[in-house]
Order: sequence, then C-alpha cells, then structure tokens
Amino acid sequence: MKRSPFNRRPRVAREADQLVWLAEGLARSSSRVEDAFWEPRLLNEVATLIDAEDEGALTAAMDRLSQSGERGFEELADVVEARCESALVGDAEAQVSMLLLAIPVLAWSRLRIPAGNLPDALLNQLRSDLQNHVLDKGARVVLGDFLFSPDQLPQGYTATATLARRFFAALEARRPLRLDPADFVETGQFLSDVRYVLAAVAIEPTAAIFRWQSEDVQRDAQTLAWASAAQSSLASAFPACAFEVLAPQAFFAACRESDRQLRPYSLSAGIEFLRATLGIEPAELRAFIGGFHGHRLEEYRIGLCLPEGEQVVHGLVWPLLDAEDENSELVAEIEARLRDAGVVHLHVFEQRFPLEFCDDCGAPLYPNEDGEPVHPEMPEQPASPSAHLH
Ligand SMILES: [Zn+2]
Repeated sequence: MKRSPFNRRPRVAREADQLVWLAEGLARSSSRVEDAFWEPRLLNEVATLIDAEDEGALTAAMDRLSQSGERGFEELADVVEARCESALVGDAEAQVSMLLLAIPVLAWSRLRIPAGNLPDALLNQLRSDLQNHVLDKGARVVLGDFLFSPDQLPQGYTATATLARRFFAALEARRPLRLDPADFVETGQFLSDVRYVLAAVAIEPTAAIFRWQSEDVQRDAQTLAWASAAQSSLASAFPACAFEVLAPQAFFAACRESDRQLRPYSLSAGIEFLRATLGIEPAELRAFIGGFHGHRLEEYRIGLCLPEGEQVVHGLVWPLLDAEDENSELVAEIEARLRDAGVVHLHVFEQRFPLEFCDDCGAPLYPNEDGEPVHPEMPEQPASPSAHLH
C-alpha cells in the first residue's frame, strides 16, 4: 500500500466523505464500464480540492481510507498524486501533457552534503544527459536550478501542485525555472541523505515520454548510461561527497524509491565512515539491532560498537516505509545488508525499545551490547584524516 510522504491531520468534512465514497466505489468496481462512472467524478472532486488548496479534506480522506485498510486508498492516492504532478494543457487542437520528474541523488559526506542553486552550465549538461539517455526524442524538458534536500521539497499535496505549476509555466516559456534560495528552509545535515533535481517534461498526449517506450531500446542499458553520464555532470555539485544518481521518475514515485534506497545506502555509508575516520574494518565492528516503537514500530536502529566497550560509536536508522510493519522481513534484510558490508558480529534484540532521542541535540539513541539505548559517541581522534573520500 502506498503511504503519503506527508504528515496528515485528521479532519471530518463533507468533501472528505465524498472522496472516500468515490474512491471506494472505484476500488470495488469490477468493470471499465462501471469505472467510467466513478473515475471522472473522483478526478473532478480531487481537481476542485487541489485548486482550492484544501489539503485538509485530501488528507482526511486519505487517513480514513488508510485506517480502514480498504483498496480505495490506492485509488485515491493515484488520482491525487497524478493531479499534483501532471497536467494536460492547451485547447483541443494543441494539447500537451506535462509531468514533474525528480532525479534523486544519494550522497554521504563527513563534511556537508550541498543543497541550493545549481549553475547553468551544469544544468545544460544534465538536460543533455536526460535527452540522450532517458527521454523520448519528442519530449521537451526544463530543469529547476536548485538542488533540493528532502525538507526543502514541498510539504503536502497542494504545495506540490503549486510547485509543479511553476515548472509547467517554465516549460511553456521554454526556459529553466529560477528558484530563490530565500524561499527554502535551512537543510538539516546528516552523514547520508538524498538530494533532488526537479524537471518538467512536455509531450503530445499519448506519445512516448521515455526512450525505453521504443521497442528497440533496452531500459536497463539506458538507465546505466544515464547514471554514468549524470554522475560526471553532477560531480562539481557534490564536493567532498560520495554520491549515486538514481533514475529519474515521476515526482512521487521518485520520492518513494529514494526513501527505500537510502536505507541500505546509509548503512554502507555509516560503515565506510567508520573505516575512513577510525580505520576500523567492518569485520571488527559489532552491530546491535533493535526495533524502536512509538504508537507502533517506527524504525529499526543499529548501534555500531568497537570490538571492546559499551560505547556506540555510530548509529544507523532503518525507518519503516509504506505498509511495512513488525511482520515484514526487515530484520533479515538489515542483517543481510550488514553482512554484505562485511559486518560479522550481529545481535538482534527481541525487546521493544521506546522511540527516544537526545534531549539536547535530537540525535536518536541506539542499542548497545547491554540492550540499553545510548547516545552515539565517537572516540577521541588522535589525528584529523583527510576530508576527501576518494
Ligand atoms: Zn545529544
């Protein structure tokens, strides 16, 4: 099941009742003939609420469908996301389909992972990479001149729709979207994180948008060629960082995919960080894994310890995503990823840990060898190693 990337506040409203009724009707329909009744009504209702910036009604309906576990949630999420990230513009003779894309970049650094404006030369190069490896030849594209951190992305459906409309206007004007850094919050700094470049693409309705929609094009080969080209185009934007460029996708799908891929990426980054700063090999580390609970299981946390001592020198967080819960195979996946990274000493605690953070700095607490949630503390550094990773 999809889950909204945004926080949702419950609210009862007539509009929400209507959305729930239409989405459940569409989900239970058994034919295209019946769909033809529900779908346009649902699309219309969602469009009206997004145009009125009624985030409350959208999230209230999402909440109710999500809690009831009905299939209507998927139907509503699809329609809401589509309406936010895409548009059909122009008159009947000359219609154009527009879509907001995100290019996620996974990065880690002992210094700072950048965010903010990108230079034109880099954007031009990245646009060529998109045209050469990702987009169909008939597609037009503009990029936003900004590298977004997750907390700088629009927070909410109607905010996403508003930003997408700015991108679509830039497409019509055929020039890059200029974004003002003063409009964005300061970026929280983590050892590893995601960054996004956003782009908007225009095609004729029903035409291909991606190169691999052509029968003679291999999608995997194109994706690899893209990743390698984009890696070198973006290198100057990520000084003193290791980074990996993911495939461009429609905005919401890209956000979900990058959240998923960030988990194993952060785990490898944390282990690499300890090797680079303390000179400790993964096989010497001890990893203590515990499930941390708020109202429900929220995330697994992994305390990394040196061969001796109770101190956790570094911690890793593996958040639950979408419909994952304690029945998911996440612990097995975390163990497999740690083993792949070379960690051999693993221990999984059965107990439920409370979702605790440091009162002073907000850092998560991680399990140590005694099963106590503790603050991560790096040992005293005798020398300062080079800041560069490569
Ligand atoms: Zn602290």
